[in-house]
Amino acid sequence: MNLLIMGPPGAGKGTQAETLAQELQITNISTGDMFREAIRQGTEMGKKAKEYMEMGELVPDSVVVGITRERLSQPDCARGFLLDGFPRTVVQAEALEDMLETMGIVLDGVINIAVPREKLLERLTGRRICRNCGASYHLRYNKPEVENKCDACGGELYQRSDDNEVVVNNRLDIYESKTEPLIDYYASRSLLKNINGDQDIEKVLADILASLGK
Ligand code: ADP
Ligand code: ADP
Ligand code: ZN
Repeated sequence: MNLLIMGPPGAGKGTQAETLAQELQITNISTGDMFREAIRQGTEMGKKAKEYMEMGELVPDSVVVGITRERLSQPDCARGFLLDGFPRTVVQAEALEDMLETMGIVLDGVINIAVPREKLLERLTGRRICRNCGASYHLRYNKPEVENKCDACGGELYQRSDDNEVVVNNRLDIYESKTEPLIDYYASRSLLKNINGDQDIEKVLADILASLGK
């Protein structure tokens, strides 16, 4: 099964993608995680992406399309993939359509997690991320068992530098202007699965699985 998961920053994409990919035995790919890893390693691409990410701007389409194409052609994607955080613009969606066609891959569905904007700021400013595996926690809504430690791997939790109020508001504005149009794009291709993300994490997962017929 080849899926996209979309929704505004803070909708719960990363949280759901982790469990969903395990459940469906497909490869979880997050462009945001790929960029954060590139920054950590100090690669050329990381240097390019860093300035955009810190301001909450989108990394240029050409850069993102390039790394996504490369990632999707890796052998572990042959068993199916769940793509989180890409596409974020119509240009990226068209590029994805082209690359999948060239690779002979068919998209099975686009999961769209909806959460009202007024809830997103609190979700994002309270978010904590595992430095080691990227798992997402929340100070109130999804606490780790041991304070500051990842349940999955024991890694240290940190706050992303772009999860502060000023940058979050910019990211939400950009989501509304550049990414939200993709909802119509995928609805018109009959791929869209609309999910209410303003519910418990477990209920959101159950709704996603049901929308996929699982
Ligand atoms: P995204 O990948 O869409 O930006 P995350 O999965 O990182 O979003 O979730 C954003 C924050 O909200 C995290 O702190 C996460 O623990 C929390 N969160 C995720 N899903 C829910 C939910 N259904 N209810 C409350 N908080 C949630
Ligand atoms: P969130 O979980 O809040 O939705 P991500 O981790 O997916 O955020 O992305 C973090 C940042 O990485 C974005 O604000 C953007 O700068 C960059 N980024 C990730 N994916 C893309 C993309 N497809 N196009 C452009 N920029 C991207
Ligand atoms: Zn971890």
